[in-house]
Amino acid sequence: MPDAEIYLDHAASTPVAPEVRAAFLEALDGAWANPSSRHAPGVLAGRVLERSRDALREAVGSRFRRVVLTSGATEANNVAVLGLGLGGRKRKLVTTVIDHPSVLETLQHAVLQGADAELVPVGPTGEVDVERLAQAAVGASLVAVHVVHNELGTVVDVPALAEALSHTAPEAVLHVDAVQALGKLDLPRHVAGATSVAVTAHKVYGPKGIGALLLAGETSPRPLLFGGEQQDGLRAGTENVPGAAAFAAAARLVTAERPVVRERLLRLDRRLREGVAAFGDRLAPLVPAGRAVPGLVALTLRGLPPEVFLHRLEQHRVYASAGSACHARLSRSAVLQALGAPADVGLIRVSMGRGTTDDHVDAFLAAARASLPEATA
Ligand code: PLP
Repeated sequence: MPDAEIYLDHAASTPVAPEVRAAFLEALDGAWANPSSRHAPGVLAGRVLERSRDALREAVGSRFRRVVLTSGATEANNVAVLGLGLGGRKRKLVTTVIDHPSVLETLQHAVLQGADAELVPVGPTGEVDVERLAQAAVGASLVAVHVVHNELGTVVDVPALAEALSHTAPEAVLHVDAVQALGKLDLPRHVAGATSVAVTAHKVYGPKGIGALLLAGETSPRPLLFGGEQQDGLRAGTENVPGAAAFAAAARLVTAERPVVRERLLRLDRRLREGVAAFGDRLAPLVPAGRAVPGLVALTLRGLPPEVFLHRLEQHRVYASAGSACHARLSRSAVLQALGAPADVGLIRVSMGRGTTDDHVDAFLAAARASLPEATA
């Protein structure tokens, strides 16, 4: 991307890092054979897959013995909800009202198949009350929740939820969507107690179209794809070897860099929050600092529609978003609606990454100043 462009939409996707690109190309050229083939080139490709799974386990937690490579986190969440949640006698699925559409809409689909679903409300800025969730989970087969929220940056205390569920719903599977947490939090600690974890490469400087569902112990979901014995029969289809190699390189990169990047993002987050303070309630942080991961700042916008504001920012070559990219056609964030925000309030998500600098934050603030309506006295 040209230097003059200010990309502040890392929660939607990230540019591919050079070392990730190198790993992708190396596997593309060197491990091109079918990883299920028994000949030497096939064995080599199979080894690349296994090493990639090892790297993902290292980033997410060694408890997760099975790593099912998927087309992304949407698929991983679908497999978890349908494949783990509907497998047994109990068919009650529980999540929060603000979880990702790949969880929420899959729950709706499960309801059409006869399951019960419960969507648990959250606090005014997206706080998930784990005790409330655990109470709602009595009799549930599956509880699905985000680790870091994709629009708000808020963090769910997964270990506390797992502990609470051990009392109220000991048989329930706890599935977590850690898409926005990889590279931002110490994942093995933050997914402690989860049965399964969804992650995706393109949020961590990897390519699109590759993700994974990590499964604790012997957990075995019903597959969604049939017609091959790959991945222990859990996901038919020839694996994406270069994608897996790239995902592994990306997971290694963001895990190694995390402490340094976190410090920088903390500083940039502060800079942004201090800067927007001048805009009053026209553009103001929704979630207080310290309650969201650094670098993912949800701002409430008043006085003009989000799409108009974003269009004005874009004229300054500053790119942010009005919430989740998968529902970008909606002009207003569905999450804001779920939080019960007034209809004239919009959401602007500023999400920074490893390449974000002070100058980028300042450019955003200058573009925002020029794009907001005049303050009324
Ligand atoms: N879950 C969350 C929290 C996300 O932010 C995204 C990103 O769009 C997804 C799931 C879907 O991931 P993918 O694009 O790999 O299907």
